[in-house]
Amino acid sequence: MLRFNDIADQIESYNPSADLDLLEKAYVFSAKVHQGQVRRSGEPYLIHPLEVAGILTKMKLDVAAVATGLLHDTIEDTLTTFEEIKEHFGDEIAHLVDGVTKISQINFQTREEQQAENFRKMVLAMVKDIKVILIKLADRLHNMRTLHYLDSQKQREIAQETIEIFAPIANRLGIDWIKTELEELAFRYLEPQACRELSKKVAKTKKERERYVDEVKGIITKKLDELGIRGEVTGRVKQLFSIYKKMKRQGVEFHDVYDITAFRIIVGSIKECYEALGIIHSLWPPVPGKFDDYIALPKGNMYQSLHTTVIGPYGERIEIQIRTWEIHMIAEEGIAAHWKYKESGKFDEKDAKRFSWLRQLLEWQMDLEDSQEFLQTVKVDLFPTEVYVFTPNGEVKEFPKGATPVDFAYSIHTDVGHQCVRAKVNSRLVPLNYQLKNGDAVEIITSAKHHPSRDWLKFVKTPRAKTKILQWIKGQQREKSISLGRDLCERDFKKFGLKYSKYWKAGDFEKTAQEFSLTNGEELLASIGYGKITTQQVIGRLAPEKIRIDDKKTAEGGLEKVIKRISSRQKGLVKIDGIDDVLMSFAGCCNPLPGDKIVGFITRGRGVTIHTADCLNALAADPRRRIEAQWALDGDTTFPTRIRIYSADKKGMLATMSSSISGNGVNIIGAQIRTTGDGNAESTFDIEIGNLKQLKKILHALQNIDGVMKVERIREWQGPVGP
Ligand code: MN
Repeated sequence: MLRFNDIADQIESYNPSADLDLLEKAYVFSAKVHQGQVRRSGEPYLIHPLEVAGILTKMKLDVAAVATGLLHDTIEDTLTTFEEIKEHFGDEIAHLVDGVTKISQINFQTREEQQAENFRKMVLAMVKDIKVILIKLADRLHNMRTLHYLDSQKQREIAQETIEIFAPIANRLGIDWIKTELEELAFRYLEPQACRELSKKVAKTKKERERYVDEVKGIITKKLDELGIRGEVTGRVKQLFSIYKKMKRQGVEFHDVYDITAFRIIVGSIKECYEALGIIHSLWPPVPGKFDDYIALPKGNMYQSLHTTVIGPYGERIEIQIRTWEIHMIAEEGIAAHWKYKESGKFDEKDAKRFSWLRQLLEWQMDLEDSQEFLQTVKVDLFPTEVYVFTPNGEVKEFPKGATPVDFAYSIHTDVGHQCVRAKVNSRLVPLNYQLKNGDAVEIITSAKHHPSRDWLKFVKTPRAKTKILQWIKGQQREKSISLGRDLCERDFKKFGLKYSKYWKAGDFEKTAQEFSLTNGEELLASIGYGKITTQQVIGRLAPEKIRIDDKKTAEGGLEKVIKRISSRQKGLVKIDGIDDVLMSFAGCCNPLPGDKIVGFITRGRGVTIHTADCLNALAADPRRRIEAQWALDGDTTFPTRIRIYSADKKGMLATMSSSISGNGVNIIGAQIRTTGDGNAESTFDIEIGNLKQLKKILHALQNIDGVMKVERIREWQGPVGP
């Protein structure tokens, strides 16, 4: 059994200035709070934190991490609080313990590879300090070593989680020995039968293998000596799990698996790596396509080695890895090892490259003073631009940072998005614009009656949600125009003694649509609804004789021309989703100005009329005809606007007011002055205004003129003022 002193000795061996008092304090604290607790094995619970701390010293971590190893289960499994840990051991250790506890609380349940990857990313995204992951790996490793005390259901669950989540994370961090041990242990519980058989088979040929390994080692060592290269050669039977994977992948039996022995040559420099490779290839023929140069092209996890497979003695395939000592230590111990070689201090370009995986994740500082500082500075969001949340089924979904429950809803299903009314995060109601956080469990409450809102566009982050909301709005507007087009046809066809429904059923609208270069009958109805095409034009095609007879009834043709003229001037000022080239006019009851909130109303045969959103006529109009509209202005369009000024009837008043208006660069197109008899005057100006802001400026300037009592914008007006 590991004792505290062993751990203290260990840490002192690589960190002579380690604060052993702090470490001992952590040990005493842990012993106290875990007192009386036993593990499934029947041993005192304390053994577990001690072993975890021991593993952390093997990774050569600092005192804070090792102390956290001792304390890592105190918040989760005892009455200890975060505050207590903080009080006794300071901020860093408290946050480390807290981080490990949080990861332990994630409920992993994966079914597919993609999900496993999301879980892995989530684990990484949840920690701000890489040490949290290292401690969690140590925790998991010891739990896997003692897994046989649990029931078989639990064993499988934990083993599955280990192979899907934690072994790959260890691999990604480049800690080879932890990855290997986790995989071997998990394999034992996940495929007990296969594991047993395989280990029997390997054991059977053990003697033979050992002799073979010795022979190959001897040949390589001798050759290296001859050429004056100092190197260490090791050989071993590959791990069971990797043989098993190979059998599965290649669909072969054990005796057909080649290269189950692997050799490693460790030399002093990269140059010697390539020299050693030359020696190997001169001794035995390489198997084509089996050479990988991970020195020139390091793997994503900063792994660097030369790999080759050759046909060795007795025609047996053997795999050989060649690397330097430095690379070897990093491959074995991952990031934890790197500073041992960096006594001198700073990171250079080469280091930065080697740690490219981490570099992707960490915004790290290039001028670290010493090794201790390395881990301390690795306290950043590992995935700063992503956030991972749970669905109610326990799946993990990835979103861009800032995403909201609405984004989540649309990612589940378009209808869930359209109908989402409320959202719960971790069982609490949140606003729909709540920003999701890592680890949130999100639940969407829908209502079939509910519709998307344009306001959602202001906060959704995913393109999918945006597109779906816009599509819905467009679809809505289109539906309205179709139904209006149908109304118009029904009414106007009747005037000519025709039955609209008869033509529709006969498919005549489909044919006529093509004549107007439209795709189908509905499109034609929509165009009629918007007033782009008149019912008369359609009747003219479907029943030309009627139009000729009823020529005189067609006053509408004249009106259409007037509107067309207006609309061509106003075209492009207002954008209406889903409708191109809409026939549009501004309502005389409110005369909207850019900057005013506006709405559109589909008006029978006259396209869309634009009102201000607060216009009483607009509020009173049939909401089914209401569509959304926005200003889409470019450049210097102006709008005739009427303002009225109440002032004292003074000499020169008109001149002052006019020059105040034109001084702001605004044209006056009409003016009328009326004295009210009580010494006051009422002046009305029609001016050309570009937008609401400009109007406000003018109103303000006028208000400040001496003698002016009141200035107002007149909403409802038609026709020019003045003589
Ligand atoms: Mn633990």
